[in-house]
Order: sequence, then C-alpha cells, then structure tokens
Amino acid sequence: MSDVYAEPATGAAPTDPATLARYTTLRLGGAAGRLVIATTADEIVQKVQEVESRDEPILVLAGGSNVVIGDQGFPGTVVLIRSRGFRVVAEDADTVTVRVEAGEPWDDLVAATVERGWSGLECLSGIPGSAGATPIQNVGAYGQEVAETITGVEAYDRTHGEVVRIDAVDCGFAYRGSIFKYSDRWVVLTVDFRLARTPVSGPVRYAELARALGVEVGDRVPLADARATVLRLRAGKGMVLDADDPDTWSVGSFFTNPVLEREAYELLRERAADLGEPPSWPGAGDVVKVSAAWLIDKAGFGKGYAGPEGVAISSKHTLALTNRSGTARTAALVALAREIRDGVHDRFGVTLHPEPVLINCII
Ligand SMILES: Cc1cc2nc3c(=O)[nH]c(=O)nc-3n(C[C@H](O)[C@H](O)[C@H](O)COP(=O)(O)OP(=O)(O)OC[C@H]3O[C@@H](n4cnc5c(N)ncnc54)[C@H](O)[C@@H]3O)c2cc1C
Repeated sequence: MSDVYAEPATGAAPTDPATLARYTTLRLGGAAGRLVIATTADEIVQKVQEVESRDEPILVLAGGSNVVIGDQGFPGTVVLIRSRGFRVVAEDADTVTVRVEAGEPWDDLVAATVERGWSGLECLSGIPGSAGATPIQNVGAYGQEVAETITGVEAYDRTHGEVVRIDAVDCGFAYRGSIFKYSDRWVVLTVDFRLARTPVSGPVRYAELARALGVEVGDRVPLADARATVLRLRAGKGMVLDADDPDTWSVGSFFTNPVLEREAYELLRERAADLGEPPSWPGAGDVVKVSAAWLIDKAGFGKGYAGPEGVAISSKHTLALTNRSGTARTAALVALAREIRDGVHDRFGVTLHPEPVLINCII
C-alpha cells in the first residue's frame, strides 16, 4: 500500500480535525468540525449517509491536491477517501477494463498499468491524488486525459440516496471539467478504465514530450519510456510532489488555460501585438485555448514572483502558486491569486479562472 497521502504526524490522532492543512498539498486550510476515514466503497456510502442523517455539511476529500480550503476550515464533516485497489472486470484480446477504488493513489495505478503492458494512462504519470478524483476535473496532461479511457463511474447519488452507474457519455467530460466538478451530488466510489493491451503508448500528441523522447508527434514509444520521460519533465517543473521541494507545495496549475471566442482572441492578439503571437491551441468549435502561463508571465508575474507570508509563484513553473514558506494562511495565497488574475485582466482583458475547487474561500 502506498503512503502517498499526507497523513497526520506521528502522535496525532488519525482523525484529528485540528487543521485540514495537513491533508492538502498546499498545506493550507483551517479546522474541520469532524473528520472520518472511509476505507472501502461500502464504508464511503455508510459514512456519507451517517453524516447526512445528522444534517451536517459534508466535504469529500481524497489526496487534497486540487482544493484550496479557507482559513476558517470546514464547519461540517470531512470524509477522507482511503479505499484501495483495482481489479480487471472485463477483457478481450485487445483491451482490459479495470475497476479502480476511488482512494487508490493515482500514480500507483498508472505505474501498475504501465508495468502490465496496458496502454492509455502513461502520459498521466506523476499526477498526485486519487483515482476517484480524476473524473472530477477530467484530469489531463501531456496530450492525454482520463475522458479517453474512462468507460463509467460508480457513484453514490446523494440526491436519490442510491448507488448508480454513470456511463462516460453522461459524465459531461470537458476541458478540466465534468458534471462532478462543483457538485456535491455524487460521491465517486469506483472508476472503470478501458486500456489497450500493448507495450507501446498511444500516439504521442504533445510536442514537448515528443522532443524529449526523440520522436515525432504521432509516434508511439514503449510505455515505460513514456512514463519515465513524463516523470522527468514533470519533476523539472515541480509538478511531482516532493516533500523536500517547496515548489511542489501547490495544486499544480492554479489557473486553467482560458478558452476564448474568436473575437476575444483577436482582441488579445491586438493587446499583445508588442509581445509576439500568444501561444494557443484550437479548441472545439470556433474557440481558441490560450496559454495561461504565457499571459501570467507577460503580465509581469514571472517564476518566483512573491506574495505575502511566503507564498509565491513556483520558481519552476509560472502556473503553480505555492505555499513555499509552509506557514502562510490561505488568505495570503488568495491575495496572490487575485493580484495575478487582476494583473492579467488589466494587461490583456482576459479573465483567468482557478482550476482547483475553492472551499470556504473566494478569489
Ligand atoms: C504538483 C501537482 C501537479 C498536478 N498536476 C496535474 C495535472 O497535470 N493535470 C491535472 O489534471 N491535475 C493536476 N493536479 C491536480 C490534482 O492532482 C488532480 O486534480 C487530482 O485528480 C486531484 O485528486 P485528489 O484526490 O487530490 O482530489 P482532492 O483534492 O481531494 O479533491 C478535489 C475535488 O474532488 C472532489 N473529490 C475527490 N474525491 C472524490 C470522490 N471520490 N467523489 C466525489 N468527489 C471527490 C473533492 O470534493 C474536491 O472537490 C496537480 C496537483 C499537484 C499538487
């Protein structure tokens, strides 16, 4: 069993709600009213039902790597998802479908699939957090996203009080979004991924990854090479959690890449005319996705840019806001995020939106 989740320091009661900061990768967040741990899918349902019967607010928390929790904490019960494991539920000559418990550490799963010669998750190596949280924002990186391999999700539907299966087509997957994000209705219990039985990756789509692998975009490479190269690239950007590296005490990218209508994109190009062409990618329909990192950097917030109380932009990646002192309050991080968002808006007329889920705080 992997020990990747932040857990209370030795000596502390495992359900000590004193501070949620110890359960988040940003090391931020005030106290919870109560904290309970669920280690199986049944237990998740049971604990959620118990809390509901007491009419208390519930916060479902797994790896804490995509949340910003306010200094006031959470005045209800936090249900920590700690179910583990995966099993094959269907297979044929070409594919295998694995059912993964929500609390399974994501990168353990990716490592296991690469080892077994199952292709489809290899470019998502090194992303912190749990398997059950990956559908929430349709986790993606280096040209892959979980929407491509998820076939369905088993969830507890709090509105109807029943366990349901939601097929991938009904999950509303979009760029860093799904029906689950910003909704308290569903608690994900298991996720099914259909993977290809092949020792090679899918076609490499991301130019930076292709360059690092020494191949052309569209080529396939051994799964282990894809994983090792993604891990190396991510580590160089502070995007793999490292307890000794404050550049990784973040939620990864703090802002999503803005998706602009054609007209807004042309306005941006005019406002950025002195800076060259803003890096962009075509989106679905007549929209353009623009690099948030570029906008932030060109608006004057470079790597290492510091805010109050020792919060700062990572020295390795412009999109990651870090609590590098380890002692800041959420208020300080929020102040830095606001300064950046407003600065980018003033300079380019583009509004950045936060990627993590904000709990009892606003930006
Ligand atoms: C260094 C770093 C790098 C990162 N890189 C990437 C990246 O490349 N791509 C990317 O997409 N993300 C990235 N992230 C963000 C994050 O790792 C992912 O979003 C991850 O899937 C969050 O998992 P978690 O278990 O930590 O979720 P948490 O932070 O615990 O929860 C996030 C949200 O999901 C909800 N949630 C969690 N589990 C469940 C469940 N079982 N049922 C219902 N709701 C649930 C929570 O209530 C909350 O709203 C990165 C984060 C860090 C710190």
